[in-house]
Amino acid sequence: MKYIDIHAHVNFKAFKEDGDEVIRRALDNDTWLVNVGSQYSTSKRAVEIAHEYEEGVFAIVGLHPIHLEEAYHDDEEIGGEGFSTHGEIFKKEDYLELLKDPKVVGIGECGLDYYHGSREIFEKQKIIFREHVALSKETGKALMIHARNSPENKEMNAYQDILEIVKEFPGVKGVSHCFGGSVRDMQGFIDLGFYVSFSGNITYKWKIGFPNYEEIIKATPLDKILNDTDSPYLAPVPYRGKRNEPVYVREIVKKIAEIKGLPESEVAEAIVANAKRLFGI
Ligand SMILES: [Zn+2]
Repeated sequence: MKYIDIHAHVNFKAFKEDGDEVIRRALDNDTWLVNVGSQYSTSKRAVEIAHEYEEGVFAIVGLHPIHLEEAYHDDEEIGGEGFSTHGEIFKKEDYLELLKDPKVVGIGECGLDYYHGSREIFEKQKIIFREHVALSKETGKALMIHARNSPENKEMNAYQDILEIVKEFPGVKGVSHCFGGSVRDMQGFIDLGFYVSFSGNITYKWKIGFPNYEEIIKATPLDKILNDTDSPYLAPVPYRGKRNEPVYVREIVKKIAEIKGLPESEVAEAIVANAKRLFGI
């Protein structure tokens, strides 16, 4: 394969009608993909989907921090159609069962989301994230990390808090997906042997509040870079505003190559090699 989208959600409702077509379009274009769960139902669905294809489709299972609470997340927050979360309890045994499946290559998406909520909610997120890291240590499967900072409270840093927790479990491996931290945050992950994955927002015109992707990508070693679409959200330019899908991952590769001043093929090859190394595929 030439490309790999390490984090997509073709297991979500947005692909209910045509998920199979979307996956075949990716596979026909030399693009492999990993569907990521955000709660038990979508995790299980990701595993089922992986088994519908002979090769090139994998799954990651876990409980997303925003799914711990009951809330509505609007389209402005999500960058795609909004949705409600119902507040789910993390049942380790259920996930352990899914993790026995060889198509399951990781745990997540898990982490900390400070976009909105209270101290109490964030403390709960830390407890559940720690459980995911422990599961990673126990099973040897990679962590798929979600981190998001608050747009208002700049004192809190989800990336640094995640790093602190990961450090409690030496030897775990993983990736920070849809990276939106600073150069310092990126370096923190690299120092722990983690990978950093960039998404479609690196192709957007820079505006105040955005991370300086140019600076961050230049500073990230090529053998530590991954890419993900986070489909159906965050479609890269020139598809911005549309439903995203795994085959668009090449636009992200193109942008990384442009920033690094490297041939696109070299970047694509490095990303595939990195993904194989991380997920053992
Ligand atoms: Zn995601």
